[in-house]
This record gives sequence, C-alpha cells and structure tokens, in this order.
Amino acid sequence: MSIVIIRQDGKINEWIASLKKNNSDIEVYSYLEAHPKDKITMAIVWKHPNGSLLEYPNLKCVASFGAGVDFIFDDPGFPRGVAVTRVVDPVLASDMSEFVIANIFNFLKNLTDYKSDQLSEYWNRRPYKRIADVSVGIMGMGALGSLAAKNLKQYGFRVHGWANSPKPNHEVRTYVGQTELQSFLSATDILVCLLPLTEETNGILNKELFRNLPHGAYVINVARGGHLIDEDLLEMLDNDHLAGASLDVFHEEPLPKKHPFWRHPKILVTPHTASVSDMDSVVPQLLENYNRLQKGAFLHNIVSAKKGY
Ligand code: NDP
Repeated sequence: MSIVIIRQDGKINEWIASLKKNNSDIEVYSYLEAHPKDKITMAIVWKHPNGSLLEYPNLKCVASFGAGVDFIFDDPGFPRGVAVTRVVDPVLASDMSEFVIANIFNFLKNLTDYKSDQLSEYWNRRPYKRIADVSVGIMGMGALGSLAAKNLKQYGFRVHGWANSPKPNHEVRTYVGQTELQSFLSATDILVCLLPLTEETNGILNKELFRNLPHGAYVINVARGGHLIDEDLLEMLDNDHLAGASLDVFHEEPLPKKHPFWRHPKILVTPHTASVSDMDSVVPQLLENYNRLQKGAFLHNIVSAKKGY
C-alpha cells in the first residue's frame, strides 16, 4: 500500500518531506515521478488534473488537502465508489474565524477606504459603525462557520447561522433550509458565506438573495467563487443596495487581470488566503487515516458523495 500526492502548485516535495518526517516507513510518491500505480491505495489531492485518479486501479481513498472537496466531485474522471475524506482541523477553523472577524472590523471602521484616502492625500473622517449596530449571518454552520459564529458572539456581535439541519446545541440561532432562508437574510447586515460548493449551493449568492438582505448590507465570500454570480454582485453594489463586499475566492483563480472586481471601489479582493491548511496540523490526520485504511478501519472525516460535502 502506498500514497500518491497530486497537486499542481509546486509544493509536493514539502508535503512528502513532512509525511516522511512523521512516519519514515510510509511509501509516498509524487504523481510527477515514476511510481508503482497498482500499489497506490490513497491519493492526497488538491486541484488535481481531471482524470488523473483513474490511473490507480487499487485506489481506496481520495483525501483532500483542504476542507473543500468540490474539485474532487467536479472531476468527470473521479472513480466512483472510492472514499473521499477532507480536512477538519482546529487551526484551519481558527484561521478562518480570524479572517472573517478582520474583514468585519475592516468594514465597520472603513480601514480600506482610509487607505485609498491616504493614497490621495485626502483627510476625510468617515462615519463608522459599532458592533452593536450590525448583525452577522453565517451561511454554513459546519466546522468553519460554527467557530466563526462562536467567536463573533464573544466579541458581542448579534450572530445567527443558516444550515441544512437544525443545530440545537449551538450558541447561536441557526435558520434551516430554503423555508427559513428569507428570515435569515432579512435579519443579516453582514453576510458571511461558508457553505461548501455543491449542486444546491452553486450560484446561491445571486440578485434574488441580495435583494432579501437589508439595504446597506455587506457580503463576505470566503467559501468558493462558484457560490457567487459576479454580475449580480456588481449590479447590487452599483445600485447601492449593498455597501460592499470582501471576496477571497473566485470562479477563476488567480482572478483574471481584466476582471471588474480588481478595480471596484466597494470590493476588497484577497487571493484565496482566508485559511490555508497548516502542514504540522494536517499531516498527522492524513497519516491517521492512512493507518486506518491499512487496517480496514473506519476513516475519519469522510464526506458524502450524495450530498457533495
Ligand atoms: P462543513 O461541511 O463542515 O459545513 C458545511 C455547512 O454548510 C454545514 O453547516 C451544512 O449544513 C451547510 N450546508 C451545506 N449545504 C447547504 C445547503 N444547501 N443549504 C444550507 N446549508 C447547507 O464545511 P466547512 O465548514 O469545513 O467548510 C466550508 C467551506 O469553506 C469549504 O467547503 C470550502 O469551500 C471553504 N473553505 C475556504 C477556505 C478559504 O481559504 N477561503 C479555506 C477552507 C475552506 P448541515 O450542518 O446541516 O449539514
């Protein structure tokens, strides 16, 4: 049994070194080098080339290097029946929560606007908002959304969530499903998208949804570019229904040079960096699942192919 690593960002050797440092006995290969394909039982992947998984006849598990698995199920060459796992990690969740909170304070206190005023040598005191002035709505109350909600609540924000299923044990109210979406939106001044990208959530951040937010709402998308209809966001910003948006993820990454988001005064663009898998934290859980695979034990953090997350 062996592992293959498939990712196209030049970081394969770093991950191999870290896996071997944690367990020098494992056989782990880069997909770019010659390797015994019939021995591979686990592929650890991040945005792998479509079809590349079909080269492994004895593959049993495809492990995502991140929390998201949309790119795995989007591959038309994904070998059906193979287990898919993802990263569920306190460091990832904490990094995401910090990023979301930073964006919210940036909006409340106009910090990005002050940077552009500064570059124009313009002394311009702007009205600011307080924590008590806004409520935060988090779409997706999973590993990432629920920690962000908890931490925001500790700052004193009014927070509520939206998910597929009720969350009776969470500290914040969670609205459930399509029937409660409108109530969730009308109570939300700052919308944070932390949904997985699935058939059901694709394009969910659209004109109709934005219209249900109060006038002057702010949108933070830290989930996937596919959640957002770009033109709808631009329209709702330009007609002043929305006050602004902070976007970390895009349909095409890097964001193409001529994309209108780059120069839009109400949009803050960041390069898919809200929360990045931490090697020291993630490698032990990848190895734990590999051990379990070898023993035929139940794997941790399996995702449902049916639900897509
Ligand atoms: P989880 O799977 O733990 O949580 C997903 C949440 O979304 C759950 O609460 C689920 O509801 C809810 N949900 C899913 N589908 C629907 C739907 N159709 N309607 C309502 N609610 C729905 O995911 P994570 O929190 O770990 O991660 C969320 C996403 O964040 C990832 O999929 C990834 O795309 C993105 N991400 C972005 C990063 C970045 O750097 N920008 C970094 C890491 C992740 P229920 O609980 O009822 O099942």
